[in-house]
Amino acid sequence: MSTLVVIGGSDAGIMAGLRAKEKDPHMGVSMLVADAFVNFSICGLPFYLSGEVPDWRRLAHRSLDEIQASGIDVHLNTRAVAIDPVQHKVLGRQEDGTDKEWAYDRLVIATGSESVRPGIGGLELPGVFTLHTMADGFHVAQFMERHKPARALIIGAGYIGLEMAEALNRRGVEVIMVEQLPAILPTIDEGLAHHLRVYLEGKHVNVHTGVRVEKIERTAEGLIVYGDGGFLREVDMVLVVVGVKPVTGLAVNAGITLGAGRAIHVDRFMATNQEDIFAAGDCAETYHRLLETESYLPLGTTAHKQGRVAGENAAGGHLEFEGSLGTQVVKVFDWVVARTGIRDEDATVSGYDPLSTQITGWDHKVYYPGAQEITIRITGDKKTGQLLGASLLGHRDAAVAKRVDIFAMALYNRMRVEDLLHVDLSYTPPLGSPWDVIQMAAADWLKHAAGNRTGGD
Ligand SMILES: Cc1cc2nc3c(=O)[nH]c(=O)nc-3n(C[C@H](O)[C@H](O)[C@H](O)COP(=O)(O)OP(=O)(O)OC[C@H]3O[C@@H](n4cnc5c(N)ncnc54)[C@H](O)[C@@H]3O)c2cc1C
Repeated sequence: MSTLVVIGGSDAGIMAGLRAKEKDPHMGVSMLVADAFVNFSICGLPFYLSGEVPDWRRLAHRSLDEIQASGIDVHLNTRAVAIDPVQHKVLGRQEDGTDKEWAYDRLVIATGSESVRPGIGGLELPGVFTLHTMADGFHVAQFMERHKPARALIIGAGYIGLEMAEALNRRGVEVIMVEQLPAILPTIDEGLAHHLRVYLEGKHVNVHTGVRVEKIERTAEGLIVYGDGGFLREVDMVLVVVGVKPVTGLAVNAGITLGAGRAIHVDRFMATNQEDIFAAGDCAETYHRLLETESYLPLGTTAHKQGRVAGENAAGGHLEFEGSLGTQVVKVFDWVVARTGIRDEDATVSGYDPLSTQITGWDHKVYYPGAQEITIRITGDKKTGQLLGASLLGHRDAAVAKRVDIFAMALYNRMRVEDLLHVDLSYTPPLGSPWDVIQMAAADWLKHAAGNRTGGD
């Protein structure tokens, strides 16, 4: 019987373990997990903190019993501290402080990522939090329970910052967001980000862009946050959500090479440069399907797929990771913003000749009650007509996620913008139109692309 050891028990680790057991039920699978929360949905933390999911136990994708029943031997509160790639052994430190060795035939490293802690003075102060692990979530929850904060400042306006702005607002907390870049949600087009900002401000979230926070100080009343340009706000709590970085210390000490984003370099089979060692999830780089190069795109969707590929191959398979498109969706109050593929800047760098166009249309026939506007921006290559990316913004009832996924499917299949007009999409007046709004966006792109060709090349 061959043995697989998996380090990490979140999205990537669990997928690797489960897939290996499916592929080879006789394989012995041991999983070392640094904390007590195997297979929890940390993506759900903002909804636990908002009160929408009152019981944190509900965030478990699977229970420990279910995982054990699938044949994975889970060791909670056991931190891997060293890998010996020559002897094929992992040294783990258990909860009681004792060390134990696990021998492996194959190893999957799925140590994930950790919150970036920017060089801001005062990050260690009580009332200042990051948000990545279940423990981080509990710290925020306990603080809110005990201190009932009235004002919070969120540093970072990425998708987690936005979800937390809504979560805190729902709890009756006055929210200030500070972003050092010129716009919020830097992964989407600036125009759409501007609409979102205006919407947020309408929800009484006080947004500041182009401000770099420099230090946080404690006073008798609370915390004072100082930023450049004379920025100063007094608040009761601060949330620092400025991104994540891969956890790679173990891998580096085992002679494993790093790549894009200082994440573990892997090939399309999720294999590292060390024999019999695979890596997956936020600790590993991500092959970008459109750019055809490695990138760092730490997302739960990618972690699940990479973990599955790593598990399959660790159990003797030969499966390739097909690549990520950076597809993302986030709900902010009643709006949803989504993106997939690449934007003009990345497209130009990669040798494409991009054209982006934008329309606003209705999600379904306006005569049927409840029609919502949806704004769609399409990027395509002028020369070949290839679809390169899309960003969408609309009401939560406007099936924005379904529509971004249609674009993602088209990108996966390297379709042209024009192909979108030929796809047989569904229609009934309460849910769509004979020409869906994404087809109208495609038609508009084609019109502009034709005009562009007539007037230019
Ligand atoms: C608040 C929040 C919201 C999010 N929302 C979304 C979303 O809506 N959509 C989306 O796609 N993604 C989302 N993400 C990102 C997503 O959660 C991550 O991409 C995903 O969790 C990565 O999974 P992973 O298994 O690679 O790593 P992680 O989830 O970081 O887990 C790492 C695992 O490794 C263990 N570990 C680390 N070091 C060791 C060691 N030395 N020994 C043993 N165990 C170790 C940890 O205990 C943990 O079990 C969100 C993340 C957060 C924090």
